[in-house]
Amino acid sequence: MVFQDPYSSMNPVFRVSHGIMRNLKLHRPELNAVQRRAEAERVFTLVGLTPAAEMLRKFPFEMSGGQRQRVGFAQAVAVRPRLILADEPVSMLDVSIRAGILNLMTDLREREGVSILYITHDIASARYVADRIVVMYAGHIVEAGPTEDVLADPKHPYTQLLLSAVPDPREPVSVSTSAAVGEPPKVVNPAEGCRFRERCPLAIDICGRVTPRPTLLAPAHTAACHVATANAGGAAATRS
Ligand code: SF4
Repeated sequence: MVFQDPYSSMNPVFRVSHGIMRNLKLHRPELNAVQRRAEAERVFTLVGLTPAAEMLRKFPFEMSGGQRQRVGFAQAVAVRPRLILADEPVSMLDVSIRAGILNLMTDLREREGVSILYITHDIASARYVADRIVVMYAGHIVEAGPTEDVLADPKHPYTQLLLSAVPDPREPVSVSTSAAVGEPPKVVNPAEGCRFRERCPLAIDICGRVTPRPTLLAPAHTAACHVATANAGGAAATRS
């Protein structure tokens, strides 16, 4: 796991070597102390924290936010995971260093053979790093598929809304008229039906009665929407 806030996810009274050594002791007990030290230096170098021996001696307050987040990835990679959960890992960093962390994720994927589940509200950065996108709304997966397919041809109205909110540097600044109205639904004991219906400009009668299920609408591309399914398959769909 790599946490969102690199300023509070490390114990401030320990040097940054503490976390990685602890992970290695717990998850790779076959390593002796010398091997643990060598592995810690290897992963610090891998994530760009060099010279590794010197960086391992630092306390968290001696590092920038970007360096601390690299420590987070080093701690995760050291245990040789098949999957890293990265929860908004760049949202608290300056824009100028976000690209470095996104590039680090791509490098780790290619060099260590690890998959990364990147959780974000920033669809532009997801496009930059992800092979596959899963869009969630109020706890439900509403669309999933290869990144370029989903972004080039979004099937679900919520995905379309997310994409409309991404600024286009080629366009002049204007006041958007496509913002969704309404409130997000209750996610505790929700009523049957589509959770996006109160905000959806395409809602029809069935949306309030039947929860849409993910349906294959293109190769490897699913969406959970009655209207998108009807449009794709020609099934009858009438506005309320
Ligand atoms: S199922 Fe209905 S309310 Fe939900 S996204 Fe599709 S059209 Fe909109």
